[in-house]
Amino acid sequence: MIVVYTPEHSQHDPAHEILAGQIVPYHEAPRRAEIIRAALEQAAIGSVVAPRRFGLDPILAVHDAAYVAYLERAYAQWVAAGHPPSGVIPDTLPLHSIRRYSANPQADAGYYCFDLSAVIVAGTYAAARASADVALTGAALLLEDDERIVYALCRPPGHHAGRSLCGGYCFLNNAAIAAQYLLEQSSRMGAVESPQSAVILDIDFHHGNGTQEIFYMRADVLFISIHADPAREYPYFLGNADELGAGPGLGCNLNFPLEAGVTDERFLTVLDRALEAIRAYDPSWLIVSAGFDTFAGDPLGDFALSSSAYQAIGARLAALSLPTLLIQEGGYAVDALGQNVVSFLKGFA
Ligand SMILES: [Zn+2]
Repeated sequence: MIVVYTPEHSQHDPAHEILAGQIVPYHEAPRRAEIIRAALEQAAIGSVVAPRRFGLDPILAVHDAAYVAYLERAYAQWVAAGHPPSGVIPDTLPLHSIRRYSANPQADAGYYCFDLSAVIVAGTYAAARASADVALTGAALLLEDDERIVYALCRPPGHHAGRSLCGGYCFLNNAAIAAQYLLEQSSRMGAVESPQSAVILDIDFHHGNGTQEIFYMRADVLFISIHADPAREYPYFLGNADELGAGPGLGCNLNFPLEAGVTDERFLTVLDRALEAIRAYDPSWLIVSAGFDTFAGDPLGDFALSSSAYQAIGARLAALSLPTLLIQEGGYAVDALGQNVVSFLKGFA
């Protein structure tokens, strides 16, 4: 198995976030990725490669150009306007009825954001670009080198980022960018005569609202998410079972919102239903948004999965026998995070 990793993620290191009305240390911290990398090394899992540079084109195939330009300028214009160097956090988020662009740096911060957790510091844009390159390198390896399984150690994560919105610690939607790249490149290469399609399976504790938004109208990407019921948990406004896709994408969005306290057995039972849907769809590619905040004791989740559950999940995914790109998303029980990722990847061995 190939592991794609770069230390560039560490440039994105906000000190604080605002969570449930309190200023708290930033959960999505650089040590998360370093703990995973060290655990993989210790367990001798995978050979680690650095990402290649892909430029903006594959990112702009998913995200609005104006949004990406905002991410690039946000920190400099924020500081130049006299705001604190600790990072860009909006104070005003536009309601739909009053959503009208304003170039003011504080307005800009709200216009492209849906919550207070996607803090932009000096190194955020570079780290987000590098994270997208990690995912794209994984996709390229699947295309070019006949690798069957690649793990992209992405940080910052991506699945909450929409076409023109950051939020939930996410800036660029790595899974969506990789999926789009796989579809475009494999069609161009003509390696397979039949139309190409992809499944993005999101097993992070939180619904992948950004990924759902990006592909909601599309039939060539089936998005499936197993997550906490949004009636109870972030991101609250998307992730219900009746969100089935729209237009040509109707039937290509499948949500499994779950109750608190989900056990290994319960999760695997639901996963089996998702796997049935994947087999019926018969995709060319499988992309997994792999979050580990489903772990018992995660500070941001209320599921009760054990470490060994991740190996069982990995084994079930491996049994699909699809070219598979595993993309790191959340997971904030940092003391157990390395072990949980190792367990997951062992499932593919
Ligand atoms: Zn999460």
